[in-house]
Amino acid sequence: MQYFQPEIETMSVAEKKELQSERLVRMVKYVYDNQLPYRAKMDAIKLKPSDIKSIDDIYKLPYTVKQDLRDAYPFGMMAAPRRDLVRLHASSATTGKLTVAGYTQKDIDIWAECAARSLVMAGADKESVVHVAYGYGLFTGGLGMHYGAEKMGAVVVPASAGNTQKQIQLIADFGADIICCTPSYIIYLADEIEKLGLKPGVDIKLKGGVFGAEAWSEGMRETIEKRLGIRACDIYGLSEIAGPGVACDCQFKTGMHIQDDHFYPEIVDVDTLEPLPYGESGELVFTTLTKEGMPLIRYRTRDIASLNNAPCPCGRTSVKLNKITGRSDDMLIIRGVNVFPSQIESVLLKNTDVAPHYHINVDRVNNLDTMEIVVELSPSVSVDEVAHVEEIRRKLSSDMASALSVSAKITLVSPGTVARSEGKAKRITDKRKL
Ligand SMILES: [Zn+2]
Repeated sequence: MQYFQPEIETMSVAEKKELQSERLVRMVKYVYDNQLPYRAKMDAIKLKPSDIKSIDDIYKLPYTVKQDLRDAYPFGMMAAPRRDLVRLHASSATTGKLTVAGYTQKDIDIWAECAARSLVMAGADKESVVHVAYGYGLFTGGLGMHYGAEKMGAVVVPASAGNTQKQIQLIADFGADIICCTPSYIIYLADEIEKLGLKPGVDIKLKGGVFGAEAWSEGMRETIEKRLGIRACDIYGLSEIAGPGVACDCQFKTGMHIQDDHFYPEIVDVDTLEPLPYGESGELVFTTLTKEGMPLIRYRTRDIASLNNAPCPCGRTSVKLNKITGRSDDMLIIRGVNVFPSQIESVLLKNTDVAPHYHINVDRVNNLDTMEIVVELSPSVSVDEVAHVEEIRRKLSSDMASALSVSAKITLVSPGTVARSEGKAKRITDKRKL
């Protein structure tokens, strides 16, 4: 079994807990002394750093939410002095201010280690050529995987996002065996590779990839693995905590191994905020255990997921993050029912007459929410076979209604007509908000 840091990745559960406890005690004191907005939260409930004696006391601590970061824009949440910061990242905001995160050199080093652990899980080694097709910039994807690949001693190709034809040429000519990008982009690349008549395994040497920044389904994973003949690993990160590498799948896909020596996970009930046990789904919360630039305690990520601690055959002992069901921000509420795009994707992937390229249009007509799902037919079906297309549409409508518990209008369109994204897919148009 390949590991990047076996002494940490296969540490016993008891040793890990001791390490987490020691780090949390230190972190709470550091934050109390250096992050004024959080100190105020602790003071408000008369909680002192000395009340936190081990990781078991974490539930006593108040939550940090995205609004705290916005209120402190741009630097109010930084705990390290400006002279110690070496990098700023920011996440794009659809509304309002950016969320800014500052990193010290130690933060960058730890993040790179976590990204390196992830690349090894995807099958990379020192001989690898790692093609990074995530955007480089304020978004953490590109630079995060870049530093991870260098840290583990692979060759990195900083392709960044865009210009698909050139990306394919680089992947083929440089013999990349590992790729990092969004799941929707790898599907797009697979389409283009096929169109060019290039053969995976012959002209394209990819054997593994880490795909993140969007929620994606198991069905999507199977499609990617089958089409390109690669190991497709889900990777998780968020700029507020650290970019990609907070958690990643190993080859056994038992859930993403969380780098919980640095990032301590919890799942809490979305309404009551009470901690939930392993296996139950709720909002994912992270506490940074080692971060200096912008440490966060019990940060509510808005991602909906569950955790599991089942042993993994790879020997890594960390707690695992089950696939993200959706971001509470992406969750659509249609006539009172919660709908995640990932549920729609799962239904589409089970039907071979359609392709997993879709767009969701939501509107409100006569005070009633309506949802239309525009889906591409698979290239094997012609739009001219009217009766057959109608049959596909009817079946999809019924499958969708039973999976979502709410009806949707299905519109089937010719292959290649749903807009492709070169970055993060924009799958929803919600006219209720316009
Ligand atoms: Zn594993």
